[in-house]
Amino acid sequence: MKLRYRIQINGVVQGVGFRPFVYNLAKSLNLKGFVSNNTTGVVIEIEGENTLLNKFLNRLKEEKPSISQIYKIKIEKLQPKNYQDFIIEKSISNEEITLDILPDIATCKYCLEEMCDPLNRRYLYPFINCTLCGPRFTIIESLPYDRENTVMRKFKMCSKCYKEYKDPKDRRFHAQPIACPKCGPYLELYDKNKKKIAEREKALDFTIKFLKENKIIAIKGIGGFHIICNATNEEIINILRKRKKRLKKPFAVMFKDLKQIEKYCYLTLEEKKLLTSPSSPIVLLESKGKLPKNIAPGLKKIGAFLPYSPLHHLILYKIDFPIIATSGNFSEEPIIIDNEEAFKKLVYIADYILVHNRDIKRRADDSVIKVINKIPTFIRRARGYTPLPIFLPFKIKKRVLAVGPREKNTFAIAFNNKIILSQHLGDIDTLENLKVFEEAIFDFMNLYKFKPDIIVADLHPGYETTKWAEEFSKKEKIPLIKVQHHFAHILSCIAENELFEDEVLGISWDGTGYGEDGTVWGGEFLIVKKGNYKRITTFRNFKLIGSEKAIKNARRIALSLLFEIYGEKAFELPLKFLKTFSENELKALYIAWKKGINSPLCSSVGRLFNAISALIDLNYFNTYEGESPMMLEELVDLRLKDYYPFEIKNKFYIDWEPMIKEIVEKKENPKIVASKFINTLAKICEEIALKIGIKNVALSGGVMVNRPLIERITELLTKKGFKVFQQKMVPPNDGGLSLGQALYPILQAARE
Ligand code: ZN
Ligand code: ZN
Ligand code: FE
Repeated sequence: MKLRYRIQINGVVQGVGFRPFVYNLAKSLNLKGFVSNNTTGVVIEIEGENTLLNKFLNRLKEEKPSISQIYKIKIEKLQPKNYQDFIIEKSISNEEITLDILPDIATCKYCLEEMCDPLNRRYLYPFINCTLCGPRFTIIESLPYDRENTVMRKFKMCSKCYKEYKDPKDRRFHAQPIACPKCGPYLELYDKNKKKIAEREKALDFTIKFLKENKIIAIKGIGGFHIICNATNEEIINILRKRKKRLKKPFAVMFKDLKQIEKYCYLTLEEKKLLTSPSSPIVLLESKGKLPKNIAPGLKKIGAFLPYSPLHHLILYKIDFPIIATSGNFSEEPIIIDNEEAFKKLVYIADYILVHNRDIKRRADDSVIKVINKIPTFIRRARGYTPLPIFLPFKIKKRVLAVGPREKNTFAIAFNNKIILSQHLGDIDTLENLKVFEEAIFDFMNLYKFKPDIIVADLHPGYETTKWAEEFSKKEKIPLIKVQHHFAHILSCIAENELFEDEVLGISWDGTGYGEDGTVWGGEFLIVKKGNYKRITTFRNFKLIGSEKAIKNARRIALSLLFEIYGEKAFELPLKFLKTFSENELKALYIAWKKGINSPLCSSVGRLFNAISALIDLNYFNTYEGESPMMLEELVDLRLKDYYPFEIKNKFYIDWEPMIKEIVEKKENPKIVASKFINTLAKICEEIALKIGIKNVALSGGVMVNRPLIERITELLTKKGFKVFQQKMVPPNDGGLSLGQALYPILQAARE
């Protein structure tokens, strides 16, 4: 039977060779119609035999250009029009085709082949790229995306490159960073004293030689500097930890290829797909335990990734061990992108510095992803993904700037039909980071010629980002709205799952967020509908003894829970972690707890993870954010189905007392405790979902990067007929909060 389909594709499909691809595909199947760009992506009208149309649709999804991204396909079945041919039509409306800026894309297979071909003029050239790969976001200075508007401006193309650049049939037609050994950027290797050791190929040879000699080397990459060294040498990793002032936080490891990864880690199909995708993120994998323990102390997971720039390939090609590739900075400082700054700072970490003369316009840390329920879940979103937009199915009336939270900051801008999140900017808690934050906002405003009509910030009066928004709003006379933290988390999940009209039960669990009542929230159940929310229940409050101190010190949370249950009698409990306090310390903490001295109330599930990890003597101190929860997560065995008793008190809270009591009194094996704890949390979700009865359940917040927890919640709730939504385009942690913030005024009124 003959049919006509009208196919609307939303996503990153413009400027990536999508129309020629569709054209060739349609021609090969002898289908008729047209393809064209429009304001939200690409539209195709195609007619022919039913079976052929289905083939077309399948191949469209499977064979599309690797850098293109399809977010949504809408298909209408219509009466055939008897088209005579298939053509590429001019853009349907010229007014608003704003090309999206692409993220940086990992080296493609064609470039790799050329780079390894001794007869190719780009043989072993570390800056090879084409329209299918190479840097984008990190080299653009302004739009439109032309060579003159990139950091490549200073390199004059040689005649051979220019010919390729101008030839529509060439893979490098309008590849703005096009370069070759004759006309493009090159490498230079320096020692600590800024003495030049070598340049070009020689610089690469020496880098490899030094790596083999177990030296630490800073190398300039795509979105910043990396520090690299042999990942199989425990001693050098310890030296790196000391120099970088990074006690226990895991290091990422770069492997030559999938085969090498499989030697050291277990791999699922989804993980393979992610690792080899054009975005080339760090993926958290189950380690086989063959690498030194000090790469990720106390953890079985390894952050693994593959080479994504030609330079990485060239380095790993010649060595047979994986390398540590961690960001070039001191812990918690912004990643360094500038040669001069590298010479000033990285000499304290690295023995040698490998630089090049292609500037990095803006920083982009490596993205980090973990597969949960077979869905890629972002821990950190930056290189390879920023600035891909999150598309909305409607147009926004007012332009929104959402400044994000304090931790793991990203901000967002919203205009037309999309929300664009900035790259991960880290914790905005120092003057230096605040400067990076402000520069990044102005950078986005310049780049997108964007001026907000509304600003959105977190409710927390102490966040530097909120204070910045207040000042900026006053200065520019732009209205400012504040959105509650956990509500914004759920809105973020709503935005990417397009639940705009639905009533949603939001489960918003994290470490910290400022509540409407001035207490610290973090175990929230919210009903959200059309941009409004109601807090229906939360966890029984407990005190954070010493406020900020309690966040790093898991023992203080455990103690606080014990004081709630046992009062002063807690001192006598036969628990190992109690013995790590002196008697005086215990007394002082008890008084602080009792009188509430610097001990704010909190309902945070994130903190419960810390408490449990202290109670079972797994981890007492968080030397980095998420340490205890990550360790606890690895103990969980989902084959165990037991859970602890809990109570949902009629009015306003979920009581953890029966659970903590059983943990203290039964003294079960830590694996059992961890598993029962996760099961209990999931069971609580199930019971509340059943009570409330709303079909759609949205999960968000920093706790929702916990694999066993999400998998158990999903299992229990789907069995009972609920639909569970988790985040897949932005992090569920604070790194994705700005998406929810940006959506708030849009849902309120600012849409057409
Ligand atoms: Zn390429
Ligand atoms: Zn050239
Ligand atoms: Fe949060």
